[in-house]
Amino acid sequence: MNRIILMMVTGAILIQGIMWLGDSIYLFTTKIEEKKQIQTNYIKAELKERVASVIDYSEYRSQETETFLRETLHSRTYEAYELMQSIYENNKASKSKAEITKMIKDALRGIRFNGNRGYYFIDSLEGDVVLYPVYPESEGQNLIDLRDDDGNYAMREEIELIQLKGEGYIEGFWKNPNTGDDRTYKKVTFVKKFEPYNWYFGCGDYLDEITKDIQKEVLAYVDSIQYGEDNGQYVFVHDYNGVELANGVYPELVGNNYYELEDIKGSKVYQEQISLCMESGGGYLTHYWPTTKGDDYYKKLTYVAPLSDWNWVIGTGMDVSDLDELISNSERELEQFIWLRLIAILAVLSVLVAVSLFYIKVFMGKIKKNFSVFRDYMISANRNLTKIDVDTLDYKDFSELAEVTNSMTERINHLLHYDELTGILNRRYIMETFDDVLSTSPKKTGIIVLDIDYFKRVNDQFGHDIGDQTLIIIAKTIKDNLPDQTFVGRFGGEEFIVVLPETSLEETITVAEKIRRNIEMLNIEAINGNITVSGGVAHSSYFEKEELFKQADKKLYIAKALGRNRIES
Ligand code: GH3
Ligand code: MG
Ligand code: MG
Repeated sequence: MNRIILMMVTGAILIQGIMWLGDSIYLFTTKIEEKKQIQTNYIKAELKERVASVIDYSEYRSQETETFLRETLHSRTYEAYELMQSIYENNKASKSKAEITKMIKDALRGIRFNGNRGYYFIDSLEGDVVLYPVYPESEGQNLIDLRDDDGNYAMREEIELIQLKGEGYIEGFWKNPNTGDDRTYKKVTFVKKFEPYNWYFGCGDYLDEITKDIQKEVLAYVDSIQYGEDNGQYVFVHDYNGVELANGVYPELVGNNYYELEDIKGSKVYQEQISLCMESGGGYLTHYWPTTKGDDYYKKLTYVAPLSDWNWVIGTGMDVSDLDELISNSERELEQFIWLRLIAILAVLSVLVAVSLFYIKVFMGKIKKNFSVFRDYMISANRNLTKIDVDTLDYKDFSELAEVTNSMTERINHLLHYDELTGILNRRYIMETFDDVLSTSPKKTGIIVLDIDYFKRVNDQFGHDIGDQTLIIIAKTIKDNLPDQTFVGRFGGEEFIVVLPETSLEETITVAEKIRRNIEMLNIEAINGNITVSGGVAHSSYFEKEELFKQADKKLYIAKALGRNRIES
């Protein structure tokens, strides 16, 4: 019983505790996971943002390339026009055409722009070369049939445009002397008419060259980017061949090919970045690099995105070991937390178990004690029915049970000892009492046997009920006339026995006489008169126990024979 209650209590607490712990672990891990996610997302967003800003910049610059080229050529040409116009205006009055032409050619010949590639040329509308600084030998020649490297009549197109609109852009395809290769490159030229001499003039540049300039600008911009803690983070650019083009922190890498470079886990870093850009338009990668000390490695999260026009990979990365550390710290915290909770659960468990044990012990002890009260009662009931002491019981249920038992005991006791009709001792009990008294005072006990005279007649004349009432009255009268410490019982029918301990024969006779007299004097209404009794007296100083009763009975018989209403001894 104790063990079952204890097991139940322990089990309940354990289950509760485990659920509590489970909940906590779940909450904690989700919190760590959330934290990790937030941090990772934050880092990822930052990396992406860095790369995006470079891409935005370079895309903006590359989209601007041609516009930029055209604007440059346009404004350069207009600058030259201003110059030519002012030389002409200032000198037309005083100088000859040849003199002014020379002044203009001198002024323009040395001007270079766009990385030294740009220069001015002047031709007449008839196709005569006036100024051609990169090939002065051609000046004076007529090149009206000049074709570009794709076979287009370049000069004729220009002259046509001038005659039609006075100025405009021309596109041609020329081998670029700067590259030294055999390809033809798109060259844009802006031309404008110079009215005074029926010339046209202008300048041009290779689009490709401008792109290169912009690429240089972008790479320079990337080279300048340093951010993060100690400015240790950077953006890098490499092309699809794996050649490093820009690096804000490790400029010494620029120019080298890292196509085959592997991290410490054997990942081909550049190849992975290139294929991620070519196939998926960029994304995140994780690699593992040795630390500067070389005794460990760190985890680097990188974001790369392509600049596909130029076949470039642009990326930036971050050491995310801290993030892992943050998570392992949290996990350590979790572990500690679990231990603490476990200890708490065990502490609560032991306290509760101890309390339960104590309570069970006290409770079971009381139950046992209370039960033993009843057990003792049952055992002793074999001999005599004593009452249970209700005050010794601890629980109400037991007290109620005891009260019921006590009233039952009382009733049984009464039935056991008393005559139901008259309320005096019954035959069995008066005989027991007679035995007890004789064994305690064998020489000093008086005994009276009484029998109602002609009682049969009462019954016959007044009925059995009146007879019963009469019996009750007689019994009461006998009882009322007894000294203390004497016993009276109904022997049967209308016969009574009185036992008087510590009483002499004379005293016994006196008592008997007193009873007889008092009954005789009794006026019993129900029978319209009185009734008498006869009695026999014996004393233990004369007779042994076995004889004593017989002797009294014998005397009664004599009293009856001698006419009744008398005592014989
Ligand atoms: P006596 O003793 O003087 O010789 O005459 P008696 O009429 O008393 O004779 P006996 O003792 O033979 O009769 C006893 C009568 O008592 C018989 C019975 O009707 C009556 N009696 C015995 N017990 C009871 C009882 O419990 N109630 C009533 N009403 N009558 C009883
Ligand atoms: Mg009788
Ligand atoms: Mg009688």
